[in-house]
Amino acid sequence: MQKLKYLVIHCTATPEFYDVSSEQIHHWHLDPPPAGRGWRQVGYTELFHLNGVIERLVANNEDANVDPWEITNGVVGINSVSRHIVYAGGLSADCETPKDTRTVGQKKALENYVKSFIKVHPDILIAGHNQFAAKACPSFDVPSWLKMLGVNPKNIYKP
Ligand SMILES: [Zn+2]
Repeated sequence: MQKLKYLVIHCTATPEFYDVSSEQIHHWHLDPPPAGRGWRQVGYTELFHLNGVIERLVANNEDANVDPWEITNGVVGINSVSRHIVYAGGLSADCETPKDTRTVGQKKALENYVKSFIKVHPDILIAGHNQFAAKACPSFDVPSWLKMLGVNPKNIYKP
């Protein structure tokens, strides 16, 4: 068991205006290939729906350590020290282009989540998936967004 180090933000890479269910994420990640990824656990601990409601996907005791049963498969290499969260969206309606499709509700929910997470985990480093991999996910610039919210720079991950 290791100490929690990163809070990583993802998108589901689905078109704007389309809400995603936890069942869909379970199928994408847990079903055997080629239908799914064949993982043992889903990629994220929480899902932010279009209306801003946060759905818990994987149990977590909220302490400072990442227990084996809390690990989610968000970013290869750092999962054992990370919490992964995801918002429904991240692509233009035609699925062609990465796009910040966060609704007002999702933005507010993410802001509240991040701010209360820092209170519980004062040394947490918050990042976007694209800061660890050559990907568009989560389709917005996480460090700039955190700065705009007034988040303490020490909690904003810089590679
Ligand atoms: Zn991602």
